[in-house]
Amino acid sequence: MDVGELAMALDSDRVSSNMSPRELVLRHLSHIPTLGLKPTADDVGTLEQLRELLTDNNVSLIAHYYTNPAIQSLAEESGGIVSDSLEMARFGQRSESQLLIVAGVAFMGETAKIISPNKRVLMPSHDATCSLDIGCPASQFEEFCDNNPDRTVVVYANTSAAVKARADWVVTSSIAVEVIEYLDSQGKKILWAPDRYLGSYVQGKTGADMLLWDGSCVVHEEFKAQGVLNMLNIYPDAAILVHPESPSVVIDLADFVGSTSQLISAAKKMPNPQLIVATDRGILYKMQQAVPNKQLLMAPTAGNGATCSSCGDCPWMAMNTMDRLLDCLTSEKNEVHVDPHIAEKALVAVNRMLDFKK
Ligand code: SF4
Repeated sequence: MDVGELAMALDSDRVSSNMSPRELVLRHLSHIPTLGLKPTADDVGTLEQLRELLTDNNVSLIAHYYTNPAIQSLAEESGGIVSDSLEMARFGQRSESQLLIVAGVAFMGETAKIISPNKRVLMPSHDATCSLDIGCPASQFEEFCDNNPDRTVVVYANTSAAVKARADWVVTSSIAVEVIEYLDSQGKKILWAPDRYLGSYVQGKTGADMLLWDGSCVVHEEFKAQGVLNMLNIYPDAAILVHPESPSVVIDLADFVGSTSQLISAAKKMPNPQLIVATDRGILYKMQQAVPNKQLLMAPTAGNGATCSSCGDCPWMAMNTMDRLLDCLTSEKNEVHVDPHIAEKALVAVNRMLDFKK
């Protein structure tokens, strides 16, 4: 029986304690063989309507790699962008449109508004947030900073505007290592928030003195080293691509570690016929475009008997549905507002990031 037949033979809803590692991997693959690779037929009518509205009203659709493929394809076709959070922010600023729709999560909408205060920013859902943002409330974070006044405060982009306002620097995963290297070379001690996994990865790469906030991404922390090893047993020629919000035991297995954009670039450069990908499965849409002849395999998130709440699929990114996007566009609802006083302070830290690597 080959891999495909075995996957078909497995009952995809059954996880029993006596399943072998090979069975667990195949069960995982049987759940997600092609998810995230293209818009479905159901999306076609809504896509047509959205395309017209975006063009007629000169609206820029700015979508993150983790949103559903129909929204990503719409952003591409309508002159918007699909990218990581750093490039989303930059695109919104340079776009000629005065109305931006950010298909992503709350901090992305806020950042777009902070750097483009004169533009209107809408989001398909006001409830789309991020576990890193939720786990780092501004009042507690300020106390943490106040208790460590000798440290330079560096926060990940996945934070509220109020947390950014308390920071010296904002970074995304694509430039975190370089920024911390730079600050370390200046003799700075760092206070880092909120993702402890990314923080310890950066600490390991740079050797900087970093005090870490204890936050995590519910999607990436579910990836399992044993699951990745089991998959590698079945696909021994595969390369392993890992986002640094993942646990260190998974990062240690990686052939390449990087941000979403960096993972897509690495996928193109690697000669391997298969790629095991440890990040949100929404990335498969753009990654498969970049490497049409390679097989992309989502890294497993649940071990034997384990449960996962995200399964490689961010629950908040998934709130960016086609219906919500249409509703947002037709009724111009869910506008993002940031307190001007907070925005002014946050802009200082955000601009340091934007200026660091133009
Ligand atoms: S994938 Fe993780 S870090 Fe990204 S928005 Fe979702 S919860 Fe936040």
